Parts: sequence; structure tokens; C-alpha cells
Amino acid sequence: MPQAPVICWFKRDLRIEDHPALARAATLGPVIPLYIVEPALWAQADASGRQYGFVLDCLESLRAGLARLGLGLVVRVGEAVEVLDRLTAETGAARMVSHEETGNAWSFARDRRVAAWARGQGVSWDEMAQCGVVRRLPGRDAWQGRRDTFMRAPVVGVPGEVRGRPVEGVAPPAPRALGLDDHCPGRQRGGRDRALGALESFLATRGETYQWAMSRPGEGARACSRLSPHLAFGTLSVREAVQAGRAAPGGRGKAWAGSMRAFQARLAWRDHFMQKLEDEPGIEHHAMHRACDDLRPHVPDAARLAAWDKGETGLPFVDACMRSLRATGWLNFRMRSMVMAVASYHLWLDWRATGRVLARLFTDYEPGIHWPQVQMQSGVTGINTIRIYNPVKQGHDQDPTGEFTRRWLPELREVPDALLQEPWRWEGAGRLAYPAPVVDVAAAARAARAAVWAVRRETGFAEEKRRVIARHASRKRPRPAADRQMKLDL
Ligand SMILES: Cc1cc2nc3c(=O)[nH]c(=O)nc-3n(C[C@H](O)[C@H](O)[C@H](O)COP(=O)(O)OP(=O)(O)OC[C@H]3O[C@@H](n4cnc5c(N)ncnc54)[C@H](O)[C@@H]3O)c2cc1C
Repeated sequence: MPQAPVICWFKRDLRIEDHPALARAATLGPVIPLYIVEPALWAQADASGRQYGFVLDCLESLRAGLARLGLGLVVRVGEAVEVLDRLTAETGAARMVSHEETGNAWSFARDRRVAAWARGQGVSWDEMAQCGVVRRLPGRDAWQGRRDTFMRAPVVGVPGEVRGRPVEGVAPPAPRALGLDDHCPGRQRGGRDRALGALESFLATRGETYQWAMSRPGEGARACSRLSPHLAFGTLSVREAVQAGRAAPGGRGKAWAGSMRAFQARLAWRDHFMQKLEDEPGIEHHAMHRACDDLRPHVPDAARLAAWDKGETGLPFVDACMRSLRATGWLNFRMRSMVMAVASYHLWLDWRATGRVLARLFTDYEPGIHWPQVQMQSGVTGINTIRIYNPVKQGHDQDPTGEFTRRWLPELREVPDALLQEPWRWEGAGRLAYPAPVVDVAAAARAARAAVWAVRRETGFAEEKRRVIARHASRKRPRPAADRQMKLDL
């Protein structure tokens, strides 16, 4: 009697290398590699065409990778339970493997429905870790050790011998068919080769200036690894990145050594932040520190929200960052922190609404990094330093020549350098086709600080803060000098 096939369900792990689920499936029977395009997932408020476009690139490259193993990628469209129900009925598959997804609230609920369906149908579903995030972690104390063990383990080899089971699929729908209409001319392209290309060029040349250039809006785009969408959709595993970084040649001087340390620290932050959402999926919707939940009106001021989203706040550096993000799908970490902080403090907009805007604009949207970062930069975790970035100062510090600001705001071309970040103070301001600032930066920051501290002084704040620390805070000692700027931010 022929062996029953096994479904290998690809989600945010669109590769065949270092793929524990595929390796396991190959040992269990003929493999059906499945990707489900879920229209309801792509209709969520945090999903966008730039992310789907990236996924389409990755599916092409995954199809080619699987073909080298003699497997055909099966793409189906629909609700996961219905697709799986039909596929198991068609093929007699009674086992399924996938990675453990730390997704958004929608995918979390979908996975619960799939688990209930699998139990009901007698289908076994193995979910396997693909990074340092630990499912059902009993407490934070042992987390770092478990992550270190995972990262030290050898990468999982591509299965040498794997049998397939031909099954019909469909072509993935075009973005428009899913209602995803999103113009992002500078979007990063997906696929395994591009992931490896980015990793190799970062470790060979681009990474040398990483440590000092990462926060610069212009140079940072080249000096940062640019691995984020690849890690988010799994064309590269975090373990591959960690091990390649560790294996990069030493003896290249201080700059390289510092950059490589900083790179490893960020890869560790990735898992650290994702663990927070894994442990408490509700933090996509409620503040980590409950007393901060109603800090700002839940329904944000629509005009301010739209101005921030479109890059029309009248605050040049914020607007340049937002317009650049709209056109490229990427911003460096410092700029993400600043645009988020300005939205949350100066514009006093609720983090849930602005977090959704940014999620859509990021090609690399990774819910587990995103929501804890959004909360941290909005002062609602209760445990992090309140960081109210001054957008005028940030503009001068990070874009001293004004090149980046003028590139994205050509209407400010003639404003002299000294006033570029405050064009309203320029004598020719009346002639500019550029809005006046939506807020007075200093007054808005003062008001925000007072409101945040008023909540922090309330009775019971400290007790809830202890709960958040016990559940989510890093147990690591402060990091070395290279990371000092972020010391208190974890
Ligand atoms: C409000 C806000 C939202 C964010 N949302 C996302 C998101 O949806 N997806 C995402 O990948 N990153 C997010 N980040 C983190 C960070 O800004 C990006 O990972 C980074 O800019 C991506 O560029 P890179 O790959 O060149 O990063 P590099 O600096 O080269 O870092 C390498 C990898 O480390 C991880 N990493 C880097 N910085 C951080 C960080 N601060 N926290 C956690 N992990 C980090 C990422 O996986 C990144 O790809 C967010 C940051 C903020 C402030």
C-alpha cells in the first residue's frame, strides 16, 4: 500500500535551506509542499501590496528550489481550514508539518482553527521552531540560553532524498485580485538569491560602516544588512544569518569588529521582541502596561493621522522619512523610532492606528518585532525609557547636509541649510508649497511628557510594571558601548 503523503505547509518560511519542517516531512512520506494564499489575511489592516509583491517573488524562488528536489510547489487560494480539508480528502494525507508562526492576531486565530480542525479530523500537525522564539516558554530566565543553543546547532540540511506527490495547484492571484493596490517603486525584491546576495555583500563590504552609518537616512540604506524582509518571510533563516556573521573573517580592524557585534545584537533583538508577542499575542491590541491603554484617544485625529501618513505634517525630517518609506518600503531603525515617537507624542495619535499604517508601509512587516517596538516608542510598555525625539534636532544630526530631506521634499530646495528643518522660520516661508507645522514641537512634547508621567504616577503603576518586567524584560546585562544608545530601550 502506498505511503500516505505529508503536507509541508509553507508560511513565513519561504526557503528549502535550514528548514526543519521540510526535513522532517521528507522522513515521513511523499511530500506535498503547500502555500495557501489567504484572501482574508491579505485583507487585514496591516497587510499591503508591497508585502504580497515580495511574497510573490519568494514563491517563484521557492518553486525553483523545490523543483531541484523534484517537488512541485502547490499553491491554493482560500480559507486555510477549507483548503486543508479539501487537500487531505483529495490525497489521503493525514500528517502536516509547518514552522511555528508568531504572526498577528488574525493568523493566531487561524492557527487555532486549523489545530481544532486537525484534531477533529485525526490529522497530526507538527509545528517546528525556525528561530530563537520559544513556544510555551515557562519564564524569561531560561530564554537566552535556549536561544543560544538553537543558534549554535548546525543548520538543517536540504533533504537529500525526498519523494513527492503530484497535486494540482493554481497560479497565485495578482495583487489587484486581492484588492492590493500599492505603489512602491523602490520595494526590495524577494527570493533566496537576493537574500544570499544581501547577506554576502553585507558581510564582505557594506557592513564595515554599519555601526556608525546605520542611523543615517541616506548611508544607512546601504550600510544596514537589508535582510529584514528576507527574515520576515523566511527566504533566509535567522540561524543562517547568525552563523554567517560569526563565520565572517576576523582581523579586519575595529570598525568591522564593532559592526559584527552590533549585527549579532540586532539579530538577537529580533527574537527577543518576537518572544514578547509569542508570549502575549494580545499586545497587538492592548498596551503591555494596562494603565497605558487609554493614554491617548482610541479614535485618532483623522487630519493629523492623514498628514503624518502622507508626509505632510510640515515637520521636514518626519515628512521626508514618511515619503521615503512610502516609496521604498524601508526605513532604518532610528528613523522608524522617530516617526513613531512623533506620531505618538507630538501628534498624540493612538499607537494602534499609526502602528497599522507603518505595518502596511513596511515590506518587512514582522508582527512580533513591530508591535512591541510600536508600543516601546509610544511609551505604553511602562518599562522603557520615554524617548521623545525632537524631529528638528534629529534632522540636523542625521541629515546634516540636508541631502535626504531635500531629495524627498523638493519643495524645500531653496530653504537654507540652517533653517531646512524649520522652514516656517525662513523669511521666504510664505512662498513655499509646503504646509505649516501641524503642532508646535516644543509645546507638544511638553504636553505629552506631562500626560505620560501623570499615568506613571498613578497608584498601582509600579505593581503592573513589575508584572511586565517579569514577563517580557530582557534578563541580559547592559550591552557594551556600541549599543549604549539603546541600553534602556529593551
Ligand atoms: C516602530 C518600529 C517598528 C518596526 N517594525 C519592524 C518590522 O515590522 N519588521 C522588522 O523586521 N523590523 C522592524 N523594526 C526594527 C528595525 O527597524 C528593522 O528590523 C530594521 O530597520 C531593518 O533593516 P535591516 O534588515 O537592514 O536591519 P539591520 O540593522 O541590518 O538588522 C538585522 C536584522 O536584525 C533585526 N533587527 C534590527 N533592528 C531591530 C530592532 N530594533 N528590534 C528587533 N529586531 C531588529 C531585523 O530582523 C533585521 O533585519 C521596527 C522598528 C521600529 C522602531
